[in-house]
Amino acid sequence: MKSYKIEGVILRTTDFGDANRVVTIFTRDFGKIEVNAYGCRRAKNSLSGALQMFNLISAEVNHGAKLDTIKEADIIKFYPNLTADLEKMSYAALFFEIVNRMTLPKFPEVGVYDLILKTLPTLDERNAKIAALIGIFQFMEFSGEQLNFFHCVHCGAEIETDAALSLTDGGAICPNCIDAAGDILSYPNNLRETVFKILNFDWQQHLNFNLKEIDAAEKIILRYVQSIIGKELNAVKFIRQLENLQKN
Ligand SMILES: [Zn+2]
Repeated sequence: MKSYKIEGVILRTTDFGDANRVVTIFTRDFGKIEVNAYGCRRAKNSLSGALQMFNLISAEVNHGAKLDTIKEADIIKFYPNLTADLEKMSYAALFFEIVNRMTLPKFPEVGVYDLILKTLPTLDERNAKIAALIGIFQFMEFSGEQLNFFHCVHCGAEIETDAALSLTDGGAICPNCIDAAGDILSYPNNLRETVFKILNFDWQQHLNFNLKEIDAAEKIILRYVQSIIGKELNAVKFIRQLENLQKN
């Protein structure tokens, strides 16, 4: 049986049977792939430690008739806070859910892979909410579905003042075109500046953001992504539940 080697990050796991798991891995060379991992939920199984969400692994995979099967796996890097801290975990899961839903299988995208590798340590060690948001905004640049934040989608004029944003029209709406917009969200100057900072964030800088602006940017991008996907993201439901628990 022919096998091949991969390096990648575990995006998602789904248990099946007594001890098995389907593992979705975003790999450097093959993009997103799904593999079977038989027996990996047994404590003594050699795969059990490696095949957890968020781990960066190297692995050997056997070709299979339907799904390929993972044979050996080693952890290259794991992020301890993403499994220990519920809030961090939920924001990392949000970023991963969006990447998983908006990428095609077996479609290599090194830019997305590199972005995931940059986002993970920031999620783990710094403000996970802000890190996830930056990851999502920057990921959308690769998705082909990014909103146009800086030019009016109706007339092409550069946005230089308070404006509006239309999710159905795909981006900013200048004051002159507001009557033609399909839907209208508030899009003030300072929010546009925050989006610019988010899209140009280089992952070395401090996470120096205004939390009110972060909330506003989060609201827009999550509404937009969920409108594309056509349903509420599981991680969003979970984050709202966590927030309600903390309030009570
Ligand atoms: Zn316009």
